[in-house]
Amino acid sequence: MAKILIVEDDKQLADMVRTSLLFDHHLVELVGDGEAASTHLRTCDYDLIVLDWGLPGKSGIEICKEFRSQGGRTPILMLTGKAEIADKETGLDSGADDYLAKPFNVRELTARVRALLRRPVGYTETTLTAGNLSLDPIKHRVHRDGQPVPLLPKEFALLEFMMRHPNQVFSPEALLNHVWPSDSEATAAALRTTMKRLRAKIDPDNKLIRTEHGVGYILEAS
Ligand code: CA
Repeated sequence: MAKILIVEDDKQLADMVRTSLLFDHHLVELVGDGEAASTHLRTCDYDLIVLDWGLPGKSGIEICKEFRSQGGRTPILMLTGKAEIADKETGLDSGADDYLAKPFNVRELTARVRALLRRPVGYTETTLTAGNLSLDPIKHRVHRDGQPVPLLPKEFALLEFMMRHPNQVFSPEALLNHVWPSDSEATAAALRTTMKRLRAKIDPDNKLIRTEHGVGYILEAS
């Protein structure tokens, strides 16, 4: 699962993109204008941004430049209309990582998204392992000592995030930012509950996911 922001003012296209990304088990948020996009990017963390070039308020190019100039490193897939295709270089200069010209096939979009997610943060389509656990992000399955462990979606998302970032301490706020929707009312208590249920299922001795008291959680993998 990745947390993805879609910025697109064409409602029908935005819904189509959202549906295809949800189908790939991503957490998807949608905004329809440039100002809202800037606000979201200032206040929330995403793993990928699908950004339309032509938007009301502020163009995709402006958003992209602004985001990069503020140190944002999240991969950006820019969607371009007919008018902008000839101007691809401008988009590349602005800091977009890839392009997709409209109209496009959603399968092309999901393939580009997978490719972009693979690059910077170690996303792969292969199984992740840690200790006696294995997690298949595509089939959405977890095994412990070779036995399947059924997990609820949030438990799965939390475990996947931690397995992708082993040996790093995450505060409760950071985990909430990465694994829960930005507009959710989720609190540290919700995280604790999910963590507790997850540990009971996959790590009853708390050997794999340790609590660093006063700091956060760390998944230890050699
Ligand atoms: Ca547009």
